[in-house]
Amino acid sequence: MSRTGFFFDERTLWHGAGTYALTVPASGMVQPLSGSGFPEGPEAKRRLKSLIDVSGLGEDLAISSADPPSKADLLRVHPAEYLQKFKDLSDAGGGELGLRTPFGPGGYEIAALSTGLAVRAVADVLAGRLKNAYALCRPPGHHCLPDWPNGFCLLANIGVAVEAALASGAAMRVAVLDWDVHHGNGTEAVFYDRADVLTVSIHQARNYPLDTGDFSDRGEGAGNGCYLNIPLPPGCGHTAWMAALERLALPAIAAFKPDIIIVASGYDASAVDPLGRMLLGADSFAAMTAATMALADDIAGGRVVLVHEGGYSDVHAPFCAHAAISTLAGVPPLEDPLGATIAQRQPDPATTAFQLSQIDAMATALAG
Ligand code: ZN
Repeated sequence: MSRTGFFFDERTLWHGAGTYALTVPASGMVQPLSGSGFPEGPEAKRRLKSLIDVSGLGEDLAISSADPPSKADLLRVHPAEYLQKFKDLSDAGGGELGLRTPFGPGGYEIAALSTGLAVRAVADVLAGRLKNAYALCRPPGHHCLPDWPNGFCLLANIGVAVEAALASGAAMRVAVLDWDVHHGNGTEAVFYDRADVLTVSIHQARNYPLDTGDFSDRGEGAGNGCYLNIPLPPGCGHTAWMAALERLALPAIAAFKPDIIIVASGYDASAVDPLGRMLLGADSFAAMTAATMALADDIAGGRVVLVHEGGYSDVHAPFCAHAAISTLAGVPPLEDPLGATIAQRQPDPATTAFQLSQIDAMATALAG
């Protein structure tokens, strides 16, 4: 039996930005946090890799780096002008090309390396070299439009990986499931008019971006119906997230019959994430991964790749990701050190009922 792949490169942790306090550039009366203060910093990812090492999970994974994608791979998603502008500014010492996407010298090469991890993870699973895989990408990718970086994302990691898989003939149809707490607006932009790629995004309504991610946005042209947004109200816990997954997202993917399911796996729906207002613990990420794997076993030969997106609690995100990766590898997850307190703080029954009624309404609309 082939193994679970884990794609990681230390150099992606060296992606640097300016000085920030959460999403606010440090200036005026805003004091920078210690370190760079940038929320998409290296600490959560470094602690995840450390946790994989010290917990012994690494022994159950095939760990490797990957080459950056070819220029041809990048050009399937990003215009040549954008790539050149990014490379030029990176060579000149770094800067900002969009919204909240600062990068330092060498930022272009580091972003390309991050994309390469996703490309290789998808290619190796499709080729049967791995049972399933996880790509620890940094910077993340799901907000990046073809020609406009935003939300800490500089290249469309999953978009490039999907296009490479389709171009190689290794896959004909791909489903992207995004459970980052923010809307996957970049993936939407890449595939909105495409019939061969289904994208499903479960997210907190009106978080980031503020005015995208509506349930009524269903794709356009040939892609009409191949796009599904599941916006949830703030404060949803395990019950509502599982309902959104099992009643809306997974049935849509099952009906689409993809060759592979790629998950934009953010951990900012954690109950203690500074950039989300949801109530998940690590167990929820294990459960969502298990449900996705079960569907993939039924319809996609078990082919699942998780690609790391957001997750800004340096303490909790590593445990959430570790739970997802353990599930991929068939290893019992670690105990979530915040699990008990998060379980005690799940929404009360009336609030949960309201959240489920929102999900019911979306299910009814889809059935109609
Ligand atoms: Zn996010």
